[in-house]
Amino acid sequence: MHDTSNLVDETLAFTEDELEGFIEQVGLPSKCSCADGTLELAMNADGTPSVVALPDPREEHGSNWFFWQVCDCCGQSRFLSAGKIWTWFKDKEQDNQHV
Ligand SMILES: [Zn+2]
Repeated sequence: MHDTSNLVDETLAFTEDELEGFIEQVGLPSKCSCADGTLELAMNADGTPSVVALPDPREEHGSNWFFWQVCDCCGQSRFLSAGKIWTWFKDKEQDNQHV
């Protein structure tokens, strides 16, 4: 298990390049199923990746966080679990330390 004490700060610190790297390395296709569009990472005006937080109806203080991509043609969107991405980077970090 990874140390989750800085999970929120570390998640919010992910850059566009890091997330694009994740998307490429896990092999997510950028072509949208509408066949005409490309899925692009949703960004805030200040250049940080946009995060969507959805409350968990079963847990008063719980929420699920997602980075997301949106098709530049049809608007179809894909959510990427922020927790999963965080874990992916932590696993990679750990692997690198063992090399
Ligand atoms: Zn599309």
